[in-house]
Amino acid sequence: MELELIKSKLLEHYGFTDCELKSLDGYISVNYRVRHAGGTCLLKVYQLNNENIADVRAENSIINNLSENRSDFPATISTKEGEDIIVLKSEQLFFRVLSFLEGNVLALVEHPSSTICSLGKLIGEMDSMLISIQNQNIAARKMDWDLEHLLELEPKLDLIQDARKRKIVDYFLVQWKTFITPQVLHLRKSIIHNDVNDWNVIVREDEVAGIIDFGDMVYSRLVFEIAIAAAYLAIDKEDPVRALTDLFKSYHEVVPLLKEEVELLYYLVAGRLCMSVLHSAKAQKDRPDNEYLLVSEEGAWNLLVRWLAISPVHATRHWLSSLGFATTDYKDPVPLRRKSIPEVYSLSYERPIHMVKAAFQYMYGADGSTFLDAYNNIKHVGHCHPEIVRRGQEAMATLNTNTRYLYNELPDYASHLLSHFPPHLNKVFFVNSGSAASDLAIRIARTVTNRTQIVGIEQGYHGNTQLGIDVSHYKYAHKGGRGQKSNITVLPLPDQFRGIYSGDSNGYLKDVRGILENSPEPAAFIAEPIIGCGGQMPFTSEILQGIYQLIQDRGGICISDEVQVGFGRLGRWFWGYEMLDVDPDIVVLGKPMGNGHPIGAVVTTSEIARKFNNGMEFFSSFGGNPVSCSVANAVLTVLKEERLRENAEKTGAYLVKRLEELSKEFAYIGDIRGKGLFLGVDLVKSPDSKQPHGELAKWLINAMREHHILISLDGPGHNVLKIKSPLCFNKQNCDELVDRMQECLTQWRKHTY
Ligand code: PMP
Repeated sequence: MELELIKSKLLEHYGFTDCELKSLDGYISVNYRVRHAGGTCLLKVYQLNNENIADVRAENSIINNLSENRSDFPATISTKEGEDIIVLKSEQLFFRVLSFLEGNVLALVEHPSSTICSLGKLIGEMDSMLISIQNQNIAARKMDWDLEHLLELEPKLDLIQDARKRKIVDYFLVQWKTFITPQVLHLRKSIIHNDVNDWNVIVREDEVAGIIDFGDMVYSRLVFEIAIAAAYLAIDKEDPVRALTDLFKSYHEVVPLLKEEVELLYYLVAGRLCMSVLHSAKAQKDRPDNEYLLVSEEGAWNLLVRWLAISPVHATRHWLSSLGFATTDYKDPVPLRRKSIPEVYSLSYERPIHMVKAAFQYMYGADGSTFLDAYNNIKHVGHCHPEIVRRGQEAMATLNTNTRYLYNELPDYASHLLSHFPPHLNKVFFVNSGSAASDLAIRIARTVTNRTQIVGIEQGYHGNTQLGIDVSHYKYAHKGGRGQKSNITVLPLPDQFRGIYSGDSNGYLKDVRGILENSPEPAAFIAEPIIGCGGQMPFTSEILQGIYQLIQDRGGICISDEVQVGFGRLGRWFWGYEMLDVDPDIVVLGKPMGNGHPIGAVVTTSEIARKFNNGMEFFSSFGGNPVSCSVANAVLTVLKEERLRENAEKTGAYLVKRLEELSKEFAYIGDIRGKGLFLGVDLVKSPDSKQPHGELAKWLINAMREHHILISLDGPGHNVLKIKSPLCFNKQNCDELVDRMQECLTQWRKHTY
């Protein structure tokens, strides 16, 4: 009915004959293509309200300005009476008619470099005109699609149901708040189109021939214009950085970008993608069964995931130099470090890496490389996880004090942590490192039992304090170590791969009994469920249960060092002792607990805690402070929300499967062990001799580093590759790791034959 009325108005006021209308997609307006005897034009119909009319009039004035001497922007078509808007009060709507730009939309054609360059050029030409246009209406307009207001969308984060997706948007919002917000207010402003997405760009014969739909114009930061176009253009590109270089360069030739604008582009592109998925999450909430919304966001999500693997350092440096800006010269940080940091500190890899930033399972080097981190089990839920960063920042800005005052963060976190333990492990001491935790655990055991003898394990490592070194065979029995002290007993490594006890638990336990009978009565036994420095060597349940029994029968205390394997790293089990079905009296925690924030803990029974209270106060200046507790509490929440334990199990199993396949191709791989995302790959000279191939292992971790994959090695023969990635590691990451390892091993084989 209203369409008929509009049609009659078109005939009457525009003088069209044979008018035929076809509906097109539109966001704010309802759009029609109008074919009439004199040609084709575009009809845009709007709901009537005053604000809208003023906006559309402003838009008309600007596009008429742009299209004055050129045909690549739509122009308004006026009525015979000279009006460019017709109001139909009775229908509560108004409409206008625009020239129709023939051609394909960019979204539906290929994007060769020449097309991308012509897009950059046309956006540049448009912006060079817009810069000199002033319009009060547009200047006063506040749009929620204005990137300047991105952070106002933060409350919409909760509408993204999938926590693993949500964290990516959250990450970029936190980066935005930290690095973009302080810069953005200093950037130059202009009226911008604000939505040069690939459905708003017209292409004819591989050349961009028009830009349409000026309904989102704002007076905002000029650089947003090209960043927005870039965000959409990059979506399906194999090499987004390269494709965007063409776009930026061709724009820059027309509207020279400033260095400080180029330096923000990486995050501006990410910001627009985040804005898009946040708006879409809202739309999906309002229209849950609209599948189109889901599909249309897929590209943005895929790019956001891929964007994380692109180093901002690389992208920014590449764009700066392509646009002719000088980039800062790289300064080797080693000499400065050597000046003040003692030589006893080691550096990883033959070519040490200078790291500058990180995101989840990726680390960004100063040289622009992106490293896949398959090694850092401290960054348990991922590097710079936004929830952890935010909670840490907020807590630091609120209160940081010690346990001699009352504050809720301490008991809140303590009860959250203890909810992951059986009921009898119900007291927790907080410290700041795994070393401080194992040291305290041993001190508690000695106080409670009134004994001094500590039983450790061959190749065990528990910390860098004097006591930690004393019980760590890995330290005292190796280079620079001062040997075993008389108050230390050491049990053999229960090596199931090449040890004398493999498959012989009884033999092992018989020898342990003999060792214990010849030692003073033990205060405690301390071991990891999987001995990291022993080459990721797991105990068997039988053996660990047997040792615990022997120790507890003698009145000793069993300490499980979960610093490496705890907090769900093993997948199915939250703690390593659960995997082996043993019942420790004390549990030592560290590394992943604060996702890099220094916090450690000792968990024990109320009976042991009570006996430790012998009159000497326990106090740690930093242990259990509100900031540490808030951060650690967030780690537990994120672990659960993102189902990272399940991911560790699934991804770990996939990685083992791929490594097993690789072992069929390379006999160097003698054993693959561990659980979840705590794995060891034992390299051997030959499957028969099982002789450790330390030379290959050392070469391989360095070769992998050159391929930008971080793994490490350990074990008595320095031949076991350690893989213990952040728990957000995914299947593609596993493929990348194994594929690169395959290339390296092939290279080694070629080289040595
Ligand atoms: N226990 C184990 C099993 C460890 O691996 C480590 C650190 N590598 C520690 C304790 C000591 O932790 P931190 O370095 O945090 O003091």
